[in-house]
Order: sequence, then structure tokens, then C-alpha cells
Amino acid sequence: MSALQPVRGTHDLLPEETRRHRFVEETARKTAELYGFGEIETPIFEFTEVFSRTLGETSDVVTKEMYTFQDRSGDSLTLRPEGTAGVARAFISGGLAQQVPLKLFYRGPMFRHERPQKGRLRQFHQVGVELLGVESPQADVEVIALGAHILDALGLGDKVTLELNSLGDSESRAAYREALVEYLRGHLDVLSEESRNRLERNPLRVLDSKDENDRKVVADAPLLGDYLNDASRRFFDGLREGLDAVGVAFSVNPRLVRGLDYYCHTAFEFTTTALGSQGTVLAGGRYDGLIGQMGGPQTPGIGWAAGVERLAMLLAAEVPAPRPLAVIPMGQDVAQALALTQRLRRAGFVADLGYSGNMGKRMKRANKLTARAAIILGEEEWSRNAVTLRDLDSGEQEEVQLDGLEDRLARFR
Ligand code: ATP
Ligand code: MG
Repeated sequence: MSALQPVRGTHDLLPEETRRHRFVEETARKTAELYGFGEIETPIFEFTEVFSRTLGETSDVVTKEMYTFQDRSGDSLTLRPEGTAGVARAFISGGLAQQVPLKLFYRGPMFRHERPQKGRLRQFHQVGVELLGVESPQADVEVIALGAHILDALGLGDKVTLELNSLGDSESRAAYREALVEYLRGHLDVLSEESRNRLERNPLRVLDSKDENDRKVVADAPLLGDYLNDASRRFFDGLREGLDAVGVAFSVNPRLVRGLDYYCHTAFEFTTTALGSQGTVLAGGRYDGLIGQMGGPQTPGIGWAAGVERLAMLLAAEVPAPRPLAVIPMGQDVAQALALTQRLRRAGFVADLGYSGNMGKRMKRANKLTARAAIILGEEEWSRNAVTLRDLDSGEQEEVQLDGLEDRLARFR
């Protein structure tokens, strides 16, 4: 450990990377706005119970990944590993049940103690949405269509595919659970220790195991889809019909389960093959039991979260900084150039004034900043209350009166 290194799994986001993140987050937020989602910001730490009780005592996140600490009052707090539990807590403590159906968007850092890899960090960022208070699959359709819309808006539509499954209601899952446990018991000798432990406490979790031997066993396990009761089947039909109606393509993956405990019915993931084993970019599901189980009023919910780092990595093009106007003084007092630059900024232009050097050096700086135009303060023109305006893309230049300069610059905004 060196105190002058960033903590393992954390990163400094320098301006170029921050622009990519902002682009992802802003695109997501603006698209979510089209669907009526308003932004919520919950604290980045909560009482540990908010997560341990909701995510499930056997989930990877709770058993291995949480940043939990005792604060100076002796309370056990945890840096949020995901967004849904905090939003559900806010829903209960803020008495938001009166406001359903409620559509919430969030963005921000999440914290998980995992093995850092490309696309897997200890402090990472998510954007996510939650739709609370709607029982019908129409909500699932809307939320998934929004995810697809955002990925399209980011230019990633062709790089991702949507996989979908139904986890059924609790009755269906109980029936399935029995069949699954019986099947897994027949393969105890092959299963990893972790999966043997989960067999009793949460057998569905075994389906999500990344262990190779577990995966072989799981490949022949009974399928949840065969245990759905009529109501669950109807729900899943409604979801698929709705997605067809809005033109969102999907494939059903009968082995898709989600890592957290609180899901029912709908589970889905948008994945890409472009990021190796970190291929899931946006994932979510329905969690009808969560808020009730936390002690709030029984309220159905559906949502998803997307990894901002992973989406930013997939973006085809750089997200460029805005192109400035370069103010280039030639010999006269720098105060005049400074005043003009400030006047342009106050008028809403991105304007740059270098700190030293002759005309040549300043033009170089302008090119490096990909300036859109140069405003050259030649002594002669200045004495006529004018400057030279050079369009750096076309090379054209003209003399422009200082009076009304902003109007002549309008096209460079
Ligand atoms: P994985 O299987 O990759 O561990 P997960 O099931 O733990 O993912 P979720 O809890 O569903 O992930 O989180 C939603 C999204 O957040 C993921 O699809 C991914 O894009 C992103 N994400 C999750 N964990 C990390 C991480 N440690 N670093 C970067 N992004 C992450
Ligand atoms: Mg994970």
C-alpha cells in the first residue's frame, strides 16, 4: 500500500474520461425524462441493514463485496453497492407511497470489494431507474424499452442484445426450488463448496455461479420456466407481447437468473460480446416483495441499473471538449485581450487566452485546443476599433468591428 496511489479498484476520472461519463449519464437522464422519470439522489451510505436484509444474506454482494464500517457513533454503515435498496428505503422513510406510480432515475458511484479487472472496479458508477407501484407487465415493458432507447441513443444498439427470463411468483419459485434442490443433491460431489452451502439457503443462486464445474451441473438442471404457474405464465406472456408491440427485440434465456435476492417475474440483461467476461451493461428485474419485506407498504417495483464505465468503454467516438474561440493579442497591452476574452465568456462563448508567447506560439495553442476561430488583435485594426476574425476551419478571415462582435460570432456558438 502506498498512500500516494489511488486505492485498488478506484480511478481518477480525468476530463476526457469525465466527459464520456457525463455523456452516458446525461443521455440516460434525458431519455428517462421522455418517459416521465424524475431524478432522485440518495446518500452514498446507508445503515448496513438496508443492504444486508434486502440483497439477501447469501448474495455475493453481501457476503463478499460490501464496504462496511462502524462510524464514530458506533453505527454499522455500508457504502452503497447498488441503488435499488436505497431508493426503496427512501420510498419508505419519505412516505412516497402516496405518489405511486412513481418513476425515479438515479446516477452515481457504487462500491463493491471485488477483484478489479477491466470493466470491474471497486468504485464504479451506475445509472438506473425504478418504477414503483405498478403490478402489470406494462411497467416492465416501459422500463425495458427505456433501457433499449438509452442504448440506442448512445449508439450502442447494434452492439448489445437483450436476454429475458421469468423467475415467476413466489409460488412458482417454491415449486421450482424443490425440484432444483433435488437435482443438485444428486451432484453434491461435483459442486463447489460455495454452491453446496447455497444449496440449502438459496439454491437459485447456484444457477448464477461462475465456477466451471458448477456450470456443467447447472447446464442440465431443471428449468424455472417449466414450473411457472398460470398467473406467472400470463405475466410473462404479457411482457413479451408488450415488447413485440414496442419493437424491442429480445431472446428468452431460460437460465438467466439475477444475483440479488429480491427479484420475481421479470429478469433481463443487455449484454455485449465486446467487453470479455464483463459483458453485462444493463440489467434488472421486478422486485414486488422488496418494499414490503423492508417494512414498508406492499409495493411492486421494477427497475434496472447500467454500468457507466462499461457503457463509456463501448462508445465509438471520443466525446470532444467544446471548441473555444482563441483570442490572440499582437503586441498590445494584455489587459485589452483579457477584457475582450472576459466579454466573450460573459456572452456565453468558450474563449481561450494563452498565457504567454508570440503570435506563432499562440496559434499553435489554438490548434491544440481545436479552436473554432481566432480573434486576432492586430494593432492597426485595434486603432479602428476592430479585430481580425479567422475561421480556423475554412481559413477565411475578415475584419470585424468590436461593436456588435458577439452577433458576428453567433455561428461559432
Ligand atoms: P456482474 O455479473 O458483472 O458482476 P452484477 O450482476 O453484479 O454484474 P448488477 O448488480 O446487476 O451487476 O449491476 C448492474 C450493472 O452495473 C452491471 O451490469 C454492470 O454493468 C455494472 N457493474 C456491476 N458491478 C460492477 C463493477 N464492480 N464495476 C463496474 N461495473 C459494474
Ligand atoms: Mg457482480
